[in-house]
Amino acid sequence: KSGARLYTRETSRVTFADVAGLEEAKQELLEVVEFLRNPKKFARIGGKVPRGILLVGPPGTGKTLMARAVAGEAGVPFFSIAASQFIEMFVGVGASRVRDLFNTAKKQAPSIIFIDELDAVGRSRGTGLGGGNDEREQTLNQLLAELDGFEPHEEVIVMSATNRPDVLDAALLRPGRFDRQVVVERPDWRAREEILKVHTRKVPLAEDVDLRTIAKGTPGMCGADLESLINEAALIAARQDRESVSMIHLEQAKDRILMGAERKLVLSE
Ligand code: ATP
Repeated sequence: KSGARLYTRETSRVTFADVAGLEEAKQELLEVVEFLRNPKKFARIGGKVPRGILLVGPPGTGKTLMARAVAGEAGVPFFSIAASQFIEMFVGVGASRVRDLFNTAKKQAPSIIFIDELDAVGRSRGTGLGGGNDEREQTLNQLLAELDGFEPHEEVIVMSATNRPDVLDAALLRPGRFDRQVVVERPDWRAREEILKVHTRKVPLAEDVDLRTIAKGTPGMCGADLESLINEAALIAARQDRESVSMIHLEQAKDRILMGAERKLVLSE
């Protein structure tokens, strides 16, 4: 059905403690958390909060996780959708989905809207293959209209994520829209160690485990890769009927993830 709701509403239990590294990004978003926790007070002391925040960074680095953490820290409902889901074959459907999403979020304000893969609707207009895509442009125009149309008392923060800020339509980045960018960078070894710590919180580790060594041996891996590495290691240990995960399991899991990455590279050549 064309009007089907594709966004999800959740009560996020993720907090900043679940997001490893990215201290600067957390610092920048703290202000948003403060605002959502107590918008009236924030307004009284004259704080000015950005409406739209663009999280920029490579895939799997924790952009979605970070947006959920802001919702979790603030204790507000979290509405999320991948921008590609707005767009249908039928002209006008995307725009009505955008309207629907914003109306629902406003009714439950203070709240957060999170739009993943913003570039799917947000590419510069008039550069589509085969010249112009009416449906996508209408959806983008509706999104711009919604961003401009908030009343001061409508306490909704719109966060979005992209790994292609360079292709975005300049109109999206104008003041009052996504005028604040927060960079979510690929983790260095220290951040990778932190990420490994977060994802082994509930995993029994053997005495010999040294997460720093794994962190130093996984350059280029993002948070999502490291999460898979831990899951894989736990599976290997379970298959061997071990009670805990040892260094050997982590090393084997690392090799598997690295091999998987190589295979993907070969296939895409
Ligand atoms: P995409 O661009 O592919 O949507 P993303 O940047 O939104 O990626 P997430 O979906 O947030 O990445 O990350 C996927 C998973 O990887 C998270 O649910 C989390 O388990 C893990 N992860 C990524 N980054 C971190 C991090 N900094 N700390 C802890 N876990 C992380």
